[in-house]
Amino acid sequence: MVNQTIEEPLDAYWLPYTANRQFKAEPRIITSAQGCYLTDSDGRKIFDGLSGLWTSGLGHQQPKIVEAVKQQLQTLDFAPSFQFAHPSAITLAHKIASLTPDKLNRVFYTNSGSESADTATKIARGYWRQKGVASKTKIIGRIKGYHGASWGGISFGGIGGNRKIWGQGMDADHMPHTLLEENRFTKGMPEYGAHLADELENIIALHDASNIAAVIVEPFSGSAGVIIPPQGYLRRLRQICDAHQILLIFDEVITGFGRTGSMFAAQEFDVIPDIMNLAKQLTNGVVPMGAVVCSDEIYQAYMDTDKPIHDVELPHGYTYSGHPLACAAAIACLDVLQQDAIPQRVKKLTPYFESAVHSLQGGKYITDIRNYGLAAGFTIEPYSKSLTQRPFEIAMAMWRKGFYVRWGGDTIQFAPPFIVEKTQIDDVVTALADVLNQI
Ligand code: PMP
Repeated sequence: MVNQTIEEPLDAYWLPYTANRQFKAEPRIITSAQGCYLTDSDGRKIFDGLSGLWTSGLGHQQPKIVEAVKQQLQTLDFAPSFQFAHPSAITLAHKIASLTPDKLNRVFYTNSGSESADTATKIARGYWRQKGVASKTKIIGRIKGYHGASWGGISFGGIGGNRKIWGQGMDADHMPHTLLEENRFTKGMPEYGAHLADELENIIALHDASNIAAVIVEPFSGSAGVIIPPQGYLRRLRQICDAHQILLIFDEVITGFGRTGSMFAAQEFDVIPDIMNLAKQLTNGVVPMGAVVCSDEIYQAYMDTDKPIHDVELPHGYTYSGHPLACAAAIACLDVLQQDAIPQRVKKLTPYFESAVHSLQGGKYITDIRNYGLAAGFTIEPYSKSLTQRPFEIAMAMWRKGFYVRWGGDTIQFAPPFIVEKTQIDDVVTALADVLNQI
């Protein structure tokens, strides 16, 4: 039975990445969802302005995905992921490999973006060991980067608040972020700032390339407030990695599957990494799933071993890797993305979305607006003592008006479903303008 009523108090529930004290004073409880709308426990319809958590671009209850999961459930509800495969896992791996850039053909399943971050960096370190360079262990991330909440994710991620409470993490260093004063209110990719990639050279000079396994970046940072790479920046990172034999990992957990207007940001920005991390939109958020897609060369380095044939080449994996329900949801999701030409739809909508969000320039408290594809970030002028308070107040006022946008740090994030209509974009922007005037 699906529970749609709330009889118990909230106290047993410790919510993730949530201000629990605030939440329990003013709970936001979602009881159902359909298309671009959520319904809350008061029966209010709320526009889903963050596509779930960047997960649900095709809208909630997408009929083909729902049907595929139902059918899978009635056929094979679970198969052991170690030492066995099942048809949906094989089909999906092929499908993902056919969509990712040419050399990325080897798909390893995880259950989340965090697990993808851990998996990708383990694969990178192991790759160098396979090649006989065991000293290459350090991972270089970027300030303001987000790769998940696992020990790996928080170590090479660069969100200060996520790291300072935990103490020492994994061996990592960080490049500077690309949020420049000069680029405030740029539409799309800023022209200026590619030189920031050269900071990687300084980090390499400090640690020596012989100690660095990989660089991991989001093609554009999502959780930190939609930070778009300057033109030429990612290409420069690729060149530097190549020059020093360092693997490049793109965390496409947010940018993957259409959000940029191409299937992947690697294609949109024409820079191909060695490893690509996926999650979220992979299943339209319906069943938890992530994946790490590796180049043939990395895969082959593990297979070229003199271990006995029954020995595991990569001692890594999860009980739920390639869960049948997740695979079924993902196959259906990728079918819809392709058949309905969703990335192309996003590309066509982007200019409209861009003008709409930038129409808020000059609005009270807005100190920057950034956008790419169907993603926008607004920087909000902080109160003197609190970065988050004003974005929180804005997001809560939006919620009360029937719109979900996300607050995080000093930003508000807006990333509607790919199926959004222009009028719905206008409604969010109008509501945001009103809220800014009122608070
Ligand atoms: N990488 C990126 C780029 C993300 O945005 C996120 C989640 N916001 C993650 C990794 C972590 O994903 P998960 O929460 O599924 O572990």
